[in-house]
Amino acid sequence: MRVFLRFVSGVCVFAASSALAAFVFIAGSAEKAGAAKPATSAESTPLLAVVATVFPLELIARELAGERVTLASLVPPGASPHTFEPLPSDVKDLVRADLVLCIGGEYDAWIRKLLSAGHKELHVVKVIELPGLVPLSADPRAVVHEESSAQLTDSKAHPSRQASDVDPHVWTDPLRVRDAIAPGVAHALIELDVKGEAHYREHLANFQRRLSELDAEIRALLTRAPQRNYVSFHAAWRYFAARYGLTEVAVVQETGGEEPAPGELARLVRTAAAKQVTTILIEPQLNPELARVLAAEFGGRTILVDPLGTPAVKERANYVDLMRFNARNFARALSRSAEPASEAGAP
Ligand SMILES: [Zn+2]
Repeated sequence: MRVFLRFVSGVCVFAASSALAAFVFIAGSAEKAGAAKPATSAESTPLLAVVATVFPLELIARELAGERVTLASLVPPGASPHTFEPLPSDVKDLVRADLVLCIGGEYDAWIRKLLSAGHKELHVVKVIELPGLVPLSADPRAVVHEESSAQLTDSKAHPSRQASDVDPHVWTDPLRVRDAIAPGVAHALIELDVKGEAHYREHLANFQRRLSELDAEIRALLTRAPQRNYVSFHAAWRYFAARYGLTEVAVVQETGGEEPAPGELARLVRTAAAKQVTTILIEPQLNPELARVLAAEFGGRTILVDPLGTPAVKERANYVDLMRFNARNFARALSRSAEPASEAGAP
């Protein structure tokens, strides 16, 4: 099977040459796959179908979409993209997609397999390659500081930053969403739906204004926090931390789903105690049992944060609310007050 890539201003078009017959056999009936768009009146019939690999990208696209776009994401609620393995049936979401949003790199590399299963030309936005997006290294010992990398305005000029060494959790920084991700997604939507340009631009401007307000709100909230160090379950928050002056001192799992070595866990407990950390930040997508045991070791507690969002929980089902929820729970985790060892915010 051959896969061709064509890059158009941050958007690449995948076209794979496999036979449609085999493809449809995997995905279910073609009729079923093609009938997914909701039947609505002619005026409000969505014109585009967007499929994201992960829910946060769906949330960002939703802010721009209005009634012109239907949205879906592939990793189901409660699952971690780090351990996600797509089923052949996931291909059916891609059959009806006009645009695919993925993070890029190794994080959601499984999308390549799904894309190559289709014959259709698909526009794909790889977020970590969007113009103006400055990625951080996945290696915490090689954190790229914004000040020193401000000249990295186009990641295409730095191919090393496109591969597996890039930290994928870019959406946890509201200003990267405001300045690079949302404009990049809007650009792709306009390319595919030119008549909707004014609509997308208006939604983008509105979202960007709300992201500026969100940034100011988070900044005010976290500026007051007496503690700047945090321990998280996995390394999902480095963009957020870099933006708001926080420091990840340890993680239970370097990558979500990866089993830590006992020596690393002992080191985590020692580090947390030495840095006066009172909390391990846990996540709905990863089993918190180990974090609870470790927190007890240094007399700490666990508090829930949610990097991916949860569609069934109202306060975590849109981007701005989700990040507000996370910022508030970060603020609680960073407080030194003798709060009861509970998991407020847990579902
Ligand atoms: Zn992650």
